[in-house]
Amino acid sequence: MRERYSRQTLFEGIGDAGQRRLLAARVLVVGCGALGSAQAEALARAGIRHLRIVDRDFVEESNLQRQTMFTERDARERLPKAVAAARRIAEINSEVETEAEVTDLTRSNIERLIENCGVVLDGTDNFATRYLINDACVKYGVDWIYGAVVGSYGITMTVRPRLTPCLRCVFDEMPLPGSAPTCDTAGVIMPIISVVAAVQVTEALKLLTGQTESLHNSLMQFDVWRNEWRRIALGSPSVECPACALGRYETLEVEAGDLATVFCGRNAVQITPQRSPHIDLSKLAARLRSAGEVSVNSYLLRLRAGDYEVTVFPDARAIIRGTDDTAMARSLYARYVGS
Ligand SMILES: [Zn+2]
Repeated sequence: MRERYSRQTLFEGIGDAGQRRLLAARVLVVGCGALGSAQAEALARAGIRHLRIVDRDFVEESNLQRQTMFTERDARERLPKAVAAARRIAEINSEVETEAEVTDLTRSNIERLIENCGVVLDGTDNFATRYLINDACVKYGVDWIYGAVVGSYGITMTVRPRLTPCLRCVFDEMPLPGSAPTCDTAGVIMPIISVVAAVQVTEALKLLTGQTESLHNSLMQFDVWRNEWRRIALGSPSVECPACALGRYETLEVEAGDLATVFCGRNAVQITPQRSPHIDLSKLAARLRSAGEVSVNSYLLRLRAGDYEVTVFPDARAIIRGTDDTAMARSLYARYVGS
């Protein structure tokens, strides 16, 4: 085995046989923000043969504090994150084939994007996409590794369809839009990203080298500021889970997904969530004060952040001004309203 991977093949968990498997492996990284950057870099260095990176966003200055794949030049050029990541990976390990997919992961493309992938890593920032990954991976029997961070807190879990609980087994209801803090409202520090990505990538290496007896089989939670590390052991898939037990994959169904309507000529997109909870606008306003200029009354909330204006209504619908790109509008919705 080559010098390049010598320290990794010396490690008994991997060895020459494991390295050969990594050099033939294909991995999908969904979302190339902070978690996705850290995952993609570590996997490229480990010698994964083929990395497919899906992301709908562009590099911005506020990403540079934690998204290790990107530079000031990428932010100045406003490069799509997937493209900037592919460019950087080519410099890190020219043997890795990187496929940059600048797109929103949706019901209509997820089956194509997970095809032939040995494992899927979650680097997304929203639950709508995670439930979509979960349903598709359970349906097609692809292992995936959930990960999420906000503030100094992070969580991760490895899903092996029908062998371990899936995301729906553990959290049967997707959090409602506007119900939880996001990195754009509560902030995030880089060390927690390193912790969660490290566990996710290690689990991916175990899966890809066939060392499944070393998987952690738990829901792992960390808070690096409060010094809390928690591990909840997981049992079997739930017998009531719609995905694992009943074979119902809600997010893959025809009517699933948020509706995005472009207002032609107005540089605005309306996002209508599939589920419309009543949003407490004053609570959302309190969370958003750190993100930009907020005004609120009982009918609507308006946030001005950078070049965008986000207007949110009590039924969770939102109008995003400053773009006519539906993927960008969905991204801004996930950041500020959250889902
Ligand atoms: Zn399940």
